[in-house]
Amino acid sequence: MSKQNLQTDSALYKTTHALPSYLQPDNLGPWGTFLNQVDRVTPYLGNLSRWVETLKRPKKALIVDVPIHLDNGTVAHFEGYRVQHNTSRGPGKGGVRFHQEVTLSEVMALSAWMSVKNAAVNLPFGGAKGGIRVDPKLLSRGELERITRRYTSEIGSIIGPTKDIPAPDVNTDAQIMAWMMDTYSMNEGSTSTGVVTGKPIALGGSLGRREATGRGVFTVGVEAANKIGLTISGSKLAVQGFGNVGSIAAQLFVEAGAILVSVQDHSGAIYCGSGIDVRLLQEYVHSQGGVAGFPSADSINSTLFWQVDCDVLIPAALEGQITEENAPLIKARMVIEGANGPTTPAADDILAERKILVIPDVIANAGGVTVSYFEWVQDFSSFFWSEKEINARLVSIMKEAFDSIWETAQKHHVTLRTATFIIGCTRILRAREDRGLYP
Ligand code: GLU
Repeated sequence: MSKQNLQTDSALYKTTHALPSYLQPDNLGPWGTFLNQVDRVTPYLGNLSRWVETLKRPKKALIVDVPIHLDNGTVAHFEGYRVQHNTSRGPGKGGVRFHQEVTLSEVMALSAWMSVKNAAVNLPFGGAKGGIRVDPKLLSRGELERITRRYTSEIGSIIGPTKDIPAPDVNTDAQIMAWMMDTYSMNEGSTSTGVVTGKPIALGGSLGRREATGRGVFTVGVEAANKIGLTISGSKLAVQGFGNVGSIAAQLFVEAGAILVSVQDHSGAIYCGSGIDVRLLQEYVHSQGGVAGFPSADSINSTLFWQVDCDVLIPAALEGQITEENAPLIKARMVIEGANGPTTPAADDILAERKILVIPDVIANAGGVTVSYFEWVQDFSSFFWSEKEINARLVSIMKEAFDSIWETAQKHHVTLRTATFIIGCTRILRAREDRGLYP
């Protein structure tokens, strides 16, 4: 390409630089939300803002066909994705989600939030994410294993312990990571424990990893509560999603004296003003698959959940849950985003105007990937740490990151989300600039 063609006013530049429709900010959905968040941070990036286009395009996106034999003898095809949003600061890192509504655009956004999150807590990783468009609840265990193995094989050329390291996310767990690790290792011809994190302990997994995201949510929640003068003991808590993140966060808040008043999940919503027994609910959800029908609480309409009288609200399910419609109804003083992308930009503005503090996903749920980082380091060194050590290091990283985000927010008079993006994007783009363009 000649120098002439690189000038921004040339027709070629405009053609090659027009964002494809699925990357346009007005194309709503998670990727649109991310682009909007990048636009909000750009004025605070100084000279580095000239690299901001880097953030608006994923570095690499792979779509794979995942055919498997179903138990009934037929063959079914599923669509799988792995997106590496940015690798300027290190290998790609982020989970794999199995969900019937997964799309490329969603995985792109989730990978981008991983870039910001990993940089915000200063982990030496870029951002990546993967997924398969499938409802895993409809698969047998054998089918689940086959879909996981074929997907891993298909993305095998772009993942690896120094390239891109998957982990659990929505509907994926330690067993799925074990199958991923085994498939990758069989293809490589050598056991490679560091290719995924969130593995079973027997395969090089880390103590404390399963609880890490919930523990991180709790840690930043306590820090933020201190800043705004909210006492956790006696405070009322509402949680959306009662999986790995929501149930552990709820448990830690309750252990600190909070009262769990309401929980909503895919099955319905429950309410009990005097407090839901979190351990009993964990057992109930484990056996019944959802909170609906929990005997010692009232069942409420799922939309009423957002209006529940509470001090702390933790969305810990999927994206786009807090919207223009329900943001005006929320009564909490503080929203802690256990999920990725639960608040739309319009809802963010409403909450900010209503002086409800939002602790954004890119710091609030960073505990999971932080302990994933510990797992990766332990696998490389084949030296394993105690759970006490892991939790102590996790809490110290989360507190330090939160404090500098808080200071940045005060300094620039911006929300915690924009402050986290300022810190994360500055680190990413500084690495981008220092490395320079190849060739
Ligand atoms: N899926 C988790 C997240 O969204 C963890 C990713 C990881 O451990 O790599 O942060």
